[in-house]
Amino acid sequence: MGEYDCYCAFCSGCLYVPGAYGSDVFGSEAREALERRRERLREKIQAQDHTYDPTIVDHDCLKWLGSARALGMNMEARAASKAFISGRGTYSSYGDFNPEHGSDPNDDGTNPLPCFVSYDEDVPPAYPFHEACYRLFCHALFGHEDMNQIDKDVMYSTMRSLSGDRDTSCLSLDYGGMEGPEHTWYCISGEEYTVFKPSTNPKLIDVLRDLLPNQGFSGPSIDRLSIDSELETKVRNDIFSMLPLDILYMLFPYLSSETSINLMNASWHVFKATRRNGFWKQMIRNHILPWFWEFDTFIQTEDLDHIECRGLYVWLEGITRPQFGIRGPWMGLANRRRILNACEQVKKVYLKLKEGNYGVQGSHCGNGTDDDEAEEIKDDSVSLHLPAILEPKPAAELTTSVQWIRAWDEVESPGKIFESFWNGDGVLAGLGVVINSHRRVLGPTDEVPGIRKFSIDVPDAEWIEEILLHLTDPDILSEDESARTSAVKGLTVRSDPSPFRPHSLTP
Ligand SMILES: [Zn+2]
Repeated sequence: MGEYDCYCAFCSGCLYVPGAYGSDVFGSEAREALERRRERLREKIQAQDHTYDPTIVDHDCLKWLGSARALGMNMEARAASKAFISGRGTYSSYGDFNPEHGSDPNDDGTNPLPCFVSYDEDVPPAYPFHEACYRLFCHALFGHEDMNQIDKDVMYSTMRSLSGDRDTSCLSLDYGGMEGPEHTWYCISGEEYTVFKPSTNPKLIDVLRDLLPNQGFSGPSIDRLSIDSELETKVRNDIFSMLPLDILYMLFPYLSSETSINLMNASWHVFKATRRNGFWKQMIRNHILPWFWEFDTFIQTEDLDHIECRGLYVWLEGITRPQFGIRGPWMGLANRRRILNACEQVKKVYLKLKEGNYGVQGSHCGNGTDDDEAEEIKDDSVSLHLPAILEPKPAAELTTSVQWIRAWDEVESPGKIFESFWNGDGVLAGLGVVINSHRRVLGPTDEVPGIRKFSIDVPDAEWIEEILLHLTDPDILSEDESARTSAVKGLTVRSDPSPFRPHSLTP
């Protein structure tokens, strides 16, 4: 731990095991101290000593926080795909993540990796995360944990676009209002659930089976409970009564748990329409299973028709809600709910960028609306006349072209790279860009033997305004043929606005 900490991109948790650097993690186990601590929790008052309740968390519980990696970008990678997942590492100090050299082919072993912000133009920022949280994101994305299906380049662009201010220690997301991730990590008493491992845990079903008999959900189904008819006569106006039942049921998957309950409380029509055990079974599927996937095992083996599902739903939703001061066997699940909420925010951006990616590919195939947009951009572009100055003139002029920007979204997309390619004599051979992991190059690339690449990162929302080509002076009287010709041996890239200072690329 150094002067300041950076945190997991998905959960905003610390990237080392608390206490690993010698600080106190657990408070006193003395009876009086524990009672004082719990009294403060009941009053929702934080303890000032920044330690966890030793009866809630132990050292083993914290170990998963030390299994972290980072998503990095290797601009010199030969393939069009340049993002990589680093080897395991730990946050050390001053924004640095120290990974082992990983097995990802794009990982060149750079160490340290700068977290979220880089002050070295040759090393792009990296985005650290816990392995457990990356798996959760994968689950949110695909419903399973096969992480190979995540497009790392799109993921990198996603992280980059979610990085807020220059001095940031995690992404610009709602992480659930926790107070642990301060300038350095604080072990906040009452926030113990935020350091519980959120991973899949089949034992939760055993816990559920133990606790369920005492909750009283095996009574009469909600369908058979009597209803206060007097209350119905008092309803003067209920705007929701205009909603047909089938439409009403279609709305609930789009409403949060809290909004659903509020709607039932606000409308007699909705209240009556939702007094069916089948409806609450569906509510469990829509609102509980997305974060409590172990519960699916329970549904497969138990007959929910014999359980009062509204009570079960309200109970499960309440005891696993991530909030200050919770304790008990559901803390890992509560942390999972909190992290999945952040993952959903990342997922929205990821899918948007991924969709954009496919759009660009579609344009290359020459079909779809993206092709129209690319044509429109080309038609509105200005190409200044360049007179041919070759002597002797070639028998036939061969003109080649490549369109770098094919959709307006691409101008704003993060993670753009400008590339130049040079032959063995140090002469410019090709120019290109990589946008959303698509490489568009005029000329040969470094996939041709003997061609070398130099690239620069184009900051978000900035334009390349000018590319200056540096030519050698030909000596037309020289007997050396190569000296009689001019060649581009260097170039300077200028951009607008000014913070992107000119780059000179010379092999
Ligand atoms: Zn995490």
